[in-house]
Amino acid sequence: MSFTLFLGIAFCGIASCVILSYILISYNTRHLFDAGKNRLTDFIEGLSYDIERSGFPSGTDNTVAEELFLLAENYSGRVLLTDSSLRVIFDSYRTKNEKTIVAPEILEASQKKSHFSYDEKAKTATYSCVVTSLSGSKEPVIFYIRYDVSNELNQYRTSQRYIMMIALCLSIIIFTLAIVLSVVFTRPLRRINRELTVIGNGKLDERVQVRSNRQVADISDSINHILERAHEMEENRQNFVSDVSHELKTPMTSMKILADALLMSGEEMPPTVHEFLTDINSEIDRENHIISDLLALARMDRKTDTIHYERTHINDTLDVILNRVAPLAESKSVEVVCESYRDIYAEVDEPKIITALTNIIENAILYNRPEGSVYVTLNANMSHFFVTVRDTGFGIAESEIAHIFERFYRVDKDRSRETGGTGLGLAITKEIVNAHGGMIKVYSKINEGTTFSVRIPLAKPVRSSGKA
Ligand code: ADP
Repeated sequence: MSFTLFLGIAFCGIASCVILSYILISYNTRHLFDAGKNRLTDFIEGLSYDIERSGFPSGTDNTVAEELFLLAENYSGRVLLTDSSLRVIFDSYRTKNEKTIVAPEILEASQKKSHFSYDEKAKTATYSCVVTSLSGSKEPVIFYIRYDVSNELNQYRTSQRYIMMIALCLSIIIFTLAIVLSVVFTRPLRRINRELTVIGNGKLDERVQVRSNRQVADISDSINHILERAHEMEENRQNFVSDVSHELKTPMTSMKILADALLMSGEEMPPTVHEFLTDINSEIDRENHIISDLLALARMDRKTDTIHYERTHINDTLDVILNRVAPLAESKSVEVVCESYRDIYAEVDEPKIITALTNIIENAILYNRPEGSVYVTLNANMSHFFVTVRDTGFGIAESEIAHIFERFYRVDKDRSRETGGTGLGLAITKEIVNAHGGMIKVYSKINEGTTFSVRIPLAKPVRSSGKA
C-alpha cells in the first residue's frame, strides 16, 4: 500500500514537472526571436512608405538603400531585395543587380507568405516577406534578411538549462516528499494492522487504539464495533458449548453407570445383546471423553480455570506420564524412549502439564506405525524447560500443520476416529501451554515422523493473572 502510494505521488509529481518544463521550453522557443522579428516588421512598414516616396528601386533617392545597408549592419547579416521575378534589386553583399536568386525562402515569400526560420548550427535566422508600396502603385518587392542570432540562442540555452535544473530539483523534492508522505499516511494503517494481528491471535477482548486523525479514528471505531460483535458471538458460542456439555454430562454419566451395571451384573444375556452393550459402553466412554475435553476448553476460554502454580519436579511429572501411556505403547507395539538431561524444577500446574504432554505423547504413539518409536527428551536452560516428542509415524503434511491446533481438526478423519481421537487434544494442549506463558512448535515430514517441541518458563510468568 505504501509503495503504491509512493509510486502514485512520485509518478504524478514527476510527470507534472516534465510536462511543465516542456511547456516552458516550447513557450521560450516560440518567443525567442519575437523581439527581432517585431523590429523587422516595424522596419518593413516604414520601408513601404519609403518605397512610395523615393520611387525605389528606379528613383534617384538613395534613402531606402542607405536604410537597408544600416539594417544589415545592425543585424550583422545580409539584406536582399528582389522583384517578383526574383531578380536582385538590392543586396547588402553587393551581388550584381538583375541577377536572379532562387532560394526556398524567397520563393515562399514570392507566393505572399512570410517566412521565418532559424538555423541552430549556423546560429542565423532568416526572414522573408513581400513589401508593397502603400498605394500599391509600385511593383511589390521581396524582402529577405538573414541575420546572426547567436546571442538569442545563448540566452535560450541558458534559460533551457535553468528550466531543466529547476525541474530536476522539483523532481528530487517530489521524490523525497513521496517517500515521506507514503510512510506518514500509511503509518496508522500499519499500526492498526499490528494491533489486529495481536487481537487475531486470540486477544478478542482488546481494542484498536489508533486515532491519529478523524478518518483513522472512524476506521478504528468500525473495527472495534465488529470486534465487539465478534467477542459477543464468541462468548455466546463458549456459553453454548459449556451449557450443552454440562447438559449432556449428567445423562451420559447415568448411561455409563447403567451400562457398567448391566455388563457387570453377571446376568445371562444373548451374545448379540452383550456385544451391543459393550459397543454402547465404549461409545459412552468416547462421548464422555469429548464432553470432558469440551468442558476443559470451555473453562479455559472463559478464564474460569485457575492455574495453580506449584514447584514441580518435571522429571517426576514426565515419569508419571510415561507410566500412564505405557499400556497404550505396548498395545501398539511402539517403543517409548525418554532422556532427561538434568533435574528440572519449575513452577507449573502439574495436572494441566500432565494433560498437555500426555496428549502429545499419546498422539506420537497413536499416529505411529507398528514397531515404531517415540523419543522424549527433557532439558532446560536458565529460564525455560523444553520437552520434545519425536515419533517415527505418518507425519503431517505442511499444509495441515497450521490447523492441527484448531478444535475438532483431524488430518485423517478415518484414522483419527479409529484411534478414538476427538480433534480436541492439541487444542487443549496449546491452551495449557499458552496459559503457562510457553510455546509449542511442530516439525513434520510425511512418512518420516513428527516432532513436537514445548517450551515452558521455569518460573510463574510475572504478569500472569493466574487464570488458564
Ligand atoms: P485427536 O484427538 O484426533 O488426536 P488432536 O487435537 O490431538 O486430535 O490432533 C489433531 C490431529 O493432528 C490428529 O487428528 C492427527 O491427524 C494429527 N496429529 C497429531 N499428532 C500427530 C502425530 N504425532 N503424527 C501425525 N499426526 C498427528
